[in-house]
Amino acid sequence: MDKLKKSAEYVTTPLLALRGVNKKYADNNGKSITVLNNICISINHNEFVSILGPSGCGKSTLLRIIMGLDSYNSGDVLFKGEIINGKVNPFMTMVFQSFGLFPWLTVVENIEFGLESMHIPKAQRLKKSLSVIQDVGLEGFENAYPRELSGGMKQRVGIARALVTDPEILLMDEPFSSLDPLTAEALREEVLKVWSNKFSTPDVVMMVTHSVEEAVYMSDRIIILSHRPATVVKEVNVNIPRPREKRDKAIYEYSDQITTLIA
Ligand code: ADP
Repeated sequence: MDKLKKSAEYVTTPLLALRGVNKKYADNNGKSITVLNNICISINHNEFVSILGPSGCGKSTLLRIIMGLDSYNSGDVLFKGEIINGKVNPFMTMVFQSFGLFPWLTVVENIEFGLESMHIPKAQRLKKSLSVIQDVGLEGFENAYPRELSGGMKQRVGIARALVTDPEILLMDEPFSSLDPLTAEALREEVLKVWSNKFSTPDVVMMVTHSVEEAVYMSDRIIILSHRPATVVKEVNVNIPRPREKRDKAIYEYSDQITTLIA
């Protein structure tokens, strides 16, 4: 019975929902500026969702609010149907554009750090970290320091540190935008591989990006935000079967359609 109830919830309750979220900041003169205006978003299980919008419209703020790292003025954030307003959600982790690694820790220590607050015994932390190191192609770099790594390798560490906690939702804030095109391409494939493995987490990926083609190539759905104060202008379902081909005509067609919408 419990199992049945659980599976019914799985189908009907979004994994994540934002209801009428509003966010204001004070500018340098103390004047209140609205950044997010009545944001309503529902994210379902197994989805890969991208957020596109003009620079400065509030995309990073939105991710930080979802993660529980930033406050907001009104509205609700729900995880599995429960309001989690303002709490850091332990079932989510975030990958940053600027990697966010600790320079004084080695690769394996940086990754293990993600587990420290979870009170997992040291031996188990190490075992889990070494396993994720394999998943993201960092073997041989376990004891290297961030300064010894290329940008692509640093972001592999950033992704590994996020994955090691088995997050149900992986939030990514422009994760590939500071990487060279070939490295970015390889890392996109790695992320798609871990997300599409239905036997492991994450269930959902939510990515902020500036690249329309990247969003189309990777996502099931693209949420387009307006200029500040950001509202949801449109949601586009990307109905291209997976695995996708980067040079598929459909990718270009969706990209053109979305670029027109943004413009
Ligand atoms: P995006 O990710 O879309 O580029 P951000 O979420 O980083 O946008 O920022 C949205 C707006 O909020 C910008 O105008 C930015 O200057 C402002 N902002 C972001 N963080 C703060 C803050 N801590 N204090 C005041 N204003 C902020």
